[in-house]
Amino acid sequence: MKEVKQPNKKGVLYFYAIALALILVANMLLPALIAPRTETVNYNEFVRMVEAGQVAQAEIQSEENQIVFTAKADGDQKMQKIYVTALVDDAGLVDRLLTNNVAFTKLWPNTPSPLLTALLPILLMTALSFWMIKSMQKRMGAGAMSFGKSNAKVYVASETGIHFSDVQGEDEAKELLSEIVDFLHNPSKYTSIGARMPKGALLVGPPGTGKTLLAKAVAGEANVPFFSISGSEFVEMFVGMGAAKVRDLFKQAAEKAPCIVFIDEIDTIGKKRDGAAMGGNDEREQTLNQLLTEMDGFDGSKGVVILAATNRPESLDPALLRPGRFDRRVPVELPDLVGREAILRVHARKVQCDPGLDFGVIARMAAGASGAELANMVNEAALRAVRAGRSRICQSDLEESVEVVIAGYQKKNKILSNKEKLIVSYHEIGHALVAALQTHSAPVTKITVIPRTSGALGYTMQVDEGEHNLMSREELENKIATLTGGRVAEELALHSITTGAANDIEQATKLARALISRYGMSDAFGMVAFEEIHNAYLGGDASMACADETAAEIDRMVVALVQRQYDKAKALLSENMDKLHALSKYLYDHETITGDEFMHLLEQPKLVIGQDV
Ligand code: ADP
Ligand code: MG
Ligand code: ZN
Repeated sequence: MKEVKQPNKKGVLYFYAIALALILVANMLLPALIAPRTETVNYNEFVRMVEAGQVAQAEIQSEENQIVFTAKADGDQKMQKIYVTALVDDAGLVDRLLTNNVAFTKLWPNTPSPLLTALLPILLMTALSFWMIKSMQKRMGAGAMSFGKSNAKVYVASETGIHFSDVQGEDEAKELLSEIVDFLHNPSKYTSIGARMPKGALLVGPPGTGKTLLAKAVAGEANVPFFSISGSEFVEMFVGMGAAKVRDLFKQAAEKAPCIVFIDEIDTIGKKRDGAAMGGNDEREQTLNQLLTEMDGFDGSKGVVILAATNRPESLDPALLRPGRFDRRVPVELPDLVGREAILRVHARKVQCDPGLDFGVIARMAAGASGAELANMVNEAALRAVRAGRSRICQSDLEESVEVVIAGYQKKNKILSNKEKLIVSYHEIGHALVAALQTHSAPVTKITVIPRTSGALGYTMQVDEGEHNLMSREELENKIATLTGGRVAEELALHSITTGAANDIEQATKLARALISRYGMSDAFGMVAFEEIHNAYLGGDASMACADETAAEIDRMVVALVQRQYDKAKALLSENMDKLHALSKYLYDHETITGDEFMHLLEQPKLVIGQDV
C-alpha cells in the first residue's frame, strides 16, 4: 500500500518558536538567580574593612574604574559576599593592601561579554532541536510534531491490492458497497433520476468478519483516493485536538473529492453522549460533535462517501445513525456454511495444498468461526505441514488446525494419570452416548482424551450435517442432556464425580436460562423475554430485566429443567451400561476415536466389557 505524505511545515515552526521563547526567558532569569549578590560600598568603608583585616582578596579593575573585593567568610556564611567600590586615586592603596595581607594580585578571569553568554546556549539549543525534529521526521514520517492534523493515510486507488473477490461469504455487504463504488464512477446515472447516494455506510458485525477487509476492498475497486483512519487516532491528549483532526480530515477529503473516507472502530469516538457531568469526556464529545457537523456540512453529490466500521453498534450515538449521516447500515455477519468454505478456499490459494482437499468438511467442523479464525486455521495447517516436514497441506492438517483454533494445541507434556484418563474416557463417552441415543442430536465426529492447552482434558466433537439456523425446543433440551452426560457417566460407572464437568455445567445453565428467559419456551411464562442483551457482537452479555420474584422463579425453573435433562441422561446411560463400559475402555486404549468408529462400535449387537473390538 502506498502512503502519500502530507507536508507539514507549520507545526514544526510552531514548536520551534515555543522552544526559542523558553530559552530566551531562561537566559534572562537564570544568571540573576544563581549569581552571588554584590553590595556597593563607598571607599571609606573599603579602607576601614581592609584595616580591620576583613577583606580576603581584591581585584583592581582600572578599566571599569572599580575595585571588586570579597570579605573573609564568617564561618556560618556559605557564600562569600562580593563588594564593589569606586576606584579612587589613592597612592597608598597598594601599601595598605600589602600590610593587611589582602591578596590583591589575584585576578578573577575576565567574564565574557553578556551578549555571548546569552546567545551561545540559544544557538546550541536551536541546532539541537533542529536536528531532533529532522531525525524524528525521518523516523515517524512527516507530521510527527504536527498538532491538529489528521494522520489519515491516503491510499491511492488499486494499490491496496485487495479486491471484492478476496472477501467471501459477505455477498450482501459486497452488493451494498459495490453500489457506492458504482456511484463514484458514474454519478450521473444516479443523479439523473434524482437519487441521492447515502453519505455514509456503517459496517457492523462481530470481530474478525472482514469489515476492515471490505473497506480496503472498496479502496481497491473504487479507483478514487481512500482516506483510512482509526477512531482511536482522534483521541488526543489535548482538548480540541481531536476535533481539529476531524476538521482537517474532511478538508483534505473535500479537496480530493470524489473520494472515500474510512473511519475504523468508530465506536471510540462515536459513543453515546450522556449528560453525566462527572467523568464526562469533553474531548470525545467535541470530536463527535465536529464529526456530526462535518457530515452535515458537505453535500453528497460532491462524491465524498464515508465508511465506518464498528462491532458495537448499540453503543453509538443515535445522532450518528440518523438519515443524512450513516444512513446505510451494512451488516457483516459471521459466514454461513457456504461462506466458510469460500473463505477457506480464498486463503488456501495462498498456500500449497494437496489437490482434492475437502473444504466442505472443514467448513462444517468450523461452525460459528469468523473469517479471521478461518484464515488462522489455514495458516495453522500450513505451519503443521512444515512441522511435519511436508511441502503441502493435507486434509488432516486442516482438521487438526480447526481443533487448535477451537480447543487449543495438544498439550504434549501434560500426561494424565491412568486413573484420570479413565475418568475422562468415561466422561467423554458419556457425552457421546447420550448424544447418539437421542434423536435430534448432531452426530458425533470425534472423541479424544488428549489434553488441550485450553484446559480441556478431552472433548467430544459434534458436527451438524448442514447449516443450522433454527433450534427446536427438543434440540435445545437434548443438548442440555448431552452436556450433563459426562457427569452422569462418571457417577454411574465410577460412583464419584469430579470437577471435569465445570464447563459443561456452565453451558447447560446458560442454555436452560436462555430457553426460559430469552426464547420464551417455558410453559409458565410463555413468550416473554426477561433478558436484555448488550453487545450483541461481543459475547452478548445479558442482564435480567424482571422483578426479583420473577428472577427467583426463573432460577427455580432453570434448576428444574437441568435436573430433568440430567435424569433423562441418567436413564439413557443406565439402560446402556454395557456400551458405556466397552466404549470407554476402547477410548482409554486408543485415546482418539473417530465418529465412524464410534458408530460402528455402537451398532455391534453385543458388546463384551473389556474386549478390544
Ligand atoms: P474486522 O475488521 O471485521 O474485525 P478484519 O477485516 O480485520 O476483521 O479481518 C481480519 C482478517 O480475517 C482479514 O485480513 C482476512 O484475512 C480474514 N477475513 C475476515 N473476514 C474475511 C472474509 N469474509 N473473507 C476473507 N477473509 C476474511
Ligand atoms: Mg477491523
Ligand atoms: Zn464434558
